[in-house]
Amino acid sequence: MNRRTFFQSLILGVGALTVIPSLVKAEERRRGGGASAAASPKLVDPKDAQAKAVNYVHDKKDIKDKALQTERGGVKYNDQHCKNCAFYTSAKEANVEGKKAAPCQMPFAAGRVVAAEGWCTTWAKKA
Ligand code: SF4
Repeated sequence: MNRRTFFQSLILGVGALTVIPSLVKAEERRRGGGASAAASPKLVDPKDAQAKAVNYVHDKKDIKDKALQTERGGVKYNDQHCKNCAFYTSAKEANVEGKKAAPCQMPFAAGRVVAAEGWCTTWAKKA
């Protein structure tokens, strides 16, 4: 290897070491994952297609459709909240974006958290 080839390889190597970690972090941010996301969870976006499919809202007052306001598992609609739903992981509750929130076991909420005062049509009575 001559001097010119050596310096070209050195420059390419240093460039790769600088760029690759940035690309990995950018991909983690794009996916909403990574260590930083785990340290600060985000609320489910009610406008997300999967959240809309189950009528998820951060606050039940946002449910206007009377047809959805039904008794489930013997529990009146007014008494149904994420915080007393079978899928709400109370043990991991934290303050997120100004709301009490915790992970929900439903697939639409994977990697995010739902508001304690929230609700969706898959609400189920805790056993
Ligand atoms: S399944 Fe339960 S905890 Fe999850 S969003 Fe619906 S009501 Fe809330």
